[in-house]
Amino acid sequence: MFLISSLTLHVLLSRRWAFSCQCLTEIHIAVQQLDEVGREVKLWSHIGSGHYVSVSSGFRRVDFRKWFQLRDQKDPKPTRKGIALNLDQWVRMRKIVEAINNDHPFIAAALPCYMQDGHLTFGCCQCYPFLKLA
Ligand SMILES: [Zn+2]
Repeated sequence: MFLISSLTLHVLLSRRWAFSCQCLTEIHIAVQQLDEVGREVKLWSHIGSGHYVSVSSGFRRVDFRKWFQLRDQKDPKPTRKGIALNLDQWVRMRKIVEAINNDHPFIAAALPCYMQDGHLTFGCCQCYPFLKLA
C-alpha cells in the first residue's frame, strides 16, 4: 500500500514539475524584457492546479502564487501562499532547476498531464482548477 501511494505521489510530483518547467523559457524572456525601455511586460502563466507565475512591468519580481476561487465568485483570487523572487533569486532558482533536471533525468523527462495519452482536458484539475461560472 505504501509503495503504491509513494509511486502515485512520485508520478504526480513529476507531472507537476514538468508542468512548471514548461513555462521556464517564457518566464526567462519576460524577465529579459523588463530591462527593455518602453516595453510593457505582463506575463501570467498557469503552472498547474491553482498555481500561477507572473512577471509584470514595474515589479522586478517573478511571483509564484497559489490562487483560489470562492464558490459564488467567478474570478479566482491570489492567496498569500507564494513567493516573489527578485531577479537575482530567479537566476539562482533557474540554475537549481537546471541542476535538478541534469541530475535526475527521470524527472526531467516527465511530461505534464496535458501531454499524456488519454488526457481529459476539461476533467483535469491540474489544467482547469477553477469552475467556470456563467
Ligand atoms: Zn491536465
